[in-house]
Amino acid sequence: MPGREVQKMLKTRSLDCLMPYVRHLALRLREECAKVGIPLGFANTLRDKEYQEWCKKNGKSATAELGPHAFGLAFDVFINRKGSEYDMELLRRVGAIGKELGLSWAGDWKSFREYVHFEYTGGLTAADLRAGKRAELPAVPEELPAAVPMCIRHPGGELTGYAVDGVTYVPLRSLCEALGFSVLWDAARPNEAEVKPACTP
Ligand SMILES: [Zn+2]
Repeated sequence: MPGREVQKMLKTRSLDCLMPYVRHLALRLREECAKVGIPLGFANTLRDKEYQEWCKKNGKSATAELGPHAFGLAFDVFINRKGSEYDMELLRRVGAIGKELGLSWAGDWKSFREYVHFEYTGGLTAADLRAGKRAELPAVPEELPAAVPMCIRHPGGELTGYAVDGVTYVPLRSLCEALGFSVLWDAARPNEAEVKPACTP
């Protein structure tokens, strides 16, 4: 029964099945696409041998051999907008963004061009991977929230602060002194500070 056969195959769209660095690139791709108004979805990440053979049989892959999808190094995307899922113009733009992030985009490939497929194999070929070679992938950069510089005007002038996740951070002493307060800090207790009205002589 074909239905049963399908159930045996592993096919998932979960990014958690990808190698951490490739997952990071997939998330970065979605983030960068969102910035230019392209909603990105993920259709296919990890697949097993059975599913790869089914792909070959159904013209969805050039080969029945295991490729980067079987090793958590590839993912397929779609445009997450009804009716535009495979809009070539948009997919080309996604491809260009992906390449800037360091991904290999199959829309550029000479044979079996595939506009939805991205991979990062660390320079290894599918044959290398099947032979047991494993790519040394970069570490996932720690994700810090963006600090956005802000100009803060106050009665004594202005200074530069930073907005991080909706909270504004300012150089405490500069601001306090400009507002007539002083900041007390004691080297013996380096993790504490106290703001007091400035003493008048
Ligand atoms: Zn693919």
